[in-house]
Amino acid sequence: MDLAIDIGGTKTFVATFDEESLVPHEIFQFLTESHRGFEDFLRRLTETGKKLLVGDQPNLWCISTAGVVDDDGNVLWSPNLGWKNLPLKQAVSRFFGDKGFVENDCNAAAYAEAWVRGSKNLAYVTVSTGIGMGLVLEGKVYRGSHYAAGEIGHTIVDEEGPVCSCGRKGCLQAISSGRGLENLIQSITGERLRCEDIFERARTGLEPYFQVVFRGAKVLARFLTNIVDALDIEVLVLGGGLTRNEFYRNVLVEYVQRNYYATPSKKISVELPQVQPNPGAVGVLLLSRQRFGGTV
Ligand SMILES: [Zn+2]
Repeated sequence: MDLAIDIGGTKTFVATFDEESLVPHEIFQFLTESHRGFEDFLRRLTETGKKLLVGDQPNLWCISTAGVVDDDGNVLWSPNLGWKNLPLKQAVSRFFGDKGFVENDCNAAAYAEAWVRGSKNLAYVTVSTGIGMGLVLEGKVYRGSHYAAGEIGHTIVDEEGPVCSCGRKGCLQAISSGRGLENLIQSITGERLRCEDIFERARTGLEPYFQVVFRGAKVLARFLTNIVDALDIEVLVLGGGLTRNEFYRNVLVEYVQRNYYATPSKKISVELPQVQPNPGAVGVLLLSRQRFGGTV
């Protein structure tokens, strides 16, 4: 059995796969609760893995996780999980052996979505509490010089914009993400609403909800259009909870389709994720099988 794990800010997904399959044999999810400390998380993770493996060692194991991950499987920086310079691969190897691989979750998801479509140049953006991106360029995951390619949440898109959690002004995340929209509405109306409720009011045209959501989606759309043009991307995949909202997604898709720079024969497809049940876990499984010479 292969063991694939996806560590998210809220939930951790653990699944076993038969060695040539991309359909999970068995799945278990638990709350990440990283505030309980890494040792506590590691204990819950490895106990879950062992239960699914029924006491056997995995053929290989792999993890997709939020955060900046280096070639040795260290999580250099993950504000969502509160991890810094954490030797994740080394820690998990103690339980499941040396045949392991760790990758950033957006990179892994991008790879899975590119693989399933046979696409060479694809961007996977995830919009939820924060905003992240994974890139596949020329058929390969693009990690950048500091393993931080695709860390777009804190790129400044409006110098006069709202103050961000990082202390700077006008980050993409402060204007377009779930947390950003909630904060903006609170600063205008004084009420703390959940993102779903803000979307519901925006959908009916009610102000200031409509303007805040419309602007958030448009600012992100403009940013993504620039990425798609700069890198000549063919498929843009919209992941994360916010893009499941029709109003928000429609603003994004329409803006990109109307505004990308249309050179002759250029066509851009904006799509929802296709890989089930977890693009990050499936992507890192594909990457690790290639690394260790398995069948994909
Ligand atoms: Zn920021």
